[in-house]
Amino acid sequence: MRTPMVAGNWKLNGSRESATSLAREVAATPVAGVDVVVCPVSVHTAEVAEVLEGTDVKLGAQNACAHEGGAYTGEVSSTMLAEFGCEYVIIGHSERRSLFGDDNESCAARHQAVMAAGLTSIFCVGETLEDREAGNTMAVVDAQLQAVFDVCGTQAFDGAVIAYEPVWAIGTGVTASPEQAQEVHAHIREFVAAQDQQTAAKLRILYGGSVNAGNAQELFGNTDIDGGLIGGAALKSADFLAVCQAAAAQA
Ligand code: PEP
Repeated sequence: MRTPMVAGNWKLNGSRESATSLAREVAATPVAGVDVVVCPVSVHTAEVAEVLEGTDVKLGAQNACAHEGGAYTGEVSSTMLAEFGCEYVIIGHSERRSLFGDDNESCAARHQAVMAAGLTSIFCVGETLEDREAGNTMAVVDAQLQAVFDVCGTQAFDGAVIAYEPVWAIGTGVTASPEQAQEVHAHIREFVAAQDQQTAAKLRILYGGSVNAGNAQELFGNTDIDGGLIGGAALKSADFLAVCQAAAAQA
C-alpha cells in the first residue's frame, strides 16, 4: 500500500511574508493519510522550515546541485538543504530542462546527489506536445529514466518519487485525461520494475499538469497514480488543501 503524496511546487513566487503565510495556512489543516510537501523558493527555505516545524507538512526544494560544494555559482547543495530540514527535492522539472539546460545527464547526477544526501528526489519526466503527437511519449520518458539508471544503477529509484508531468499540461489549464495519465504511469512502473520489482511496487508516481480541486479526484483514482505535483493550485491554501483532500479520499 503506497501512501499518497501531494507536493506543491511554488516555483519563483512569493515573498518572505506570503511564503510563510501560505505555509502556515497549509499546515493549519492536517490531512490524514497523505504526505503533504511544500517546495518554496530556496531563499524562503529557512523561514518556511520554522513555520512547518512540529507540523505534518514536509519541506522540499525545487532543485539541487549535483555537487556538494565548490565553484558552482548560483547552486545549492542537497546537504545545505537538509540542514534546513528539507526532505524532498524536485529534480528535472520541465522548466529546469527547457529553460536552464538541465539535461538528462545533469538531472541524473542531481538525482544521485539528492539520494546520497539522504533526501528524497521527486524526479520529473514528461513529453512535449510534439513528442506526444509524434507517438514518442514512452520513448522520451524511458530515456529520461534510463539516464538515471545509467548513473545510479538498478536501485536508482529505491526510496525516490517520480512525477509524470506532460509538458503540454504544465501551467496550461489542459490536463492529461485520467486514461492518458494512467497509461504513462503504468508504463513508468513497468519500466522501473524491469530493473527492480520491489522498487517499482512501492514507488510513488505523482501526476503533475494543471491539477486542481475539480480534476484531482478522478486523476488520483487510478491504480498507478499516487498523488500529484501541483504548481498553480499550490499557491492558494484552499485550492491546495482541496487537492490534498482528494488524495486522502483515495488513501
Ligand atoms: C508544475 O509546475 O509542476 C505543475 C504541475 O504546474 P501546474 O500545476 O500549474 O500545471
